[in-house]
Amino acid sequence: MKASIYNRQYRGTDRPERSVPRVTTRDVVEFAKAQLGGNVDDATLARRLDACRRCDRREGGDPVEGAYCNACVCPKWRFAKLGKKARKRLAPCPPGRWPKPD
Ligand code: SF4
Repeated sequence: MKASIYNRQYRGTDRPERSVPRVTTRDVVEFAKAQLGGNVDDATLARRLDACRRCDRREGGDPVEGAYCNACVCPKWRFAKLGKKARKRLAPCPPGRWPKPD
């Protein structure tokens, strides 16, 4: 049996930890729904970002400047920055800390 490049590279050693989170088909579908589901208004965005500023799951500086939510499984890329994520109507706050819509 022919070994894969991955197996040859790490033969005889422990494989390294995965450097990116495992992304499932469901995660991809949820992401697509959030991207296509429209935006919230400015007042809702401000309330969401206020919640993120007070949240212990926020990773990084100010949400508007590009902090991330570490309660999500999203990779840390430009679409997952809190300033962008909070703008999307269907984007989730996993612990439910965002205020309810009016
Ligand atoms: S999305 Fe929710 S869990 Fe994530 S940083 Fe904002 S308030 Fe916290």
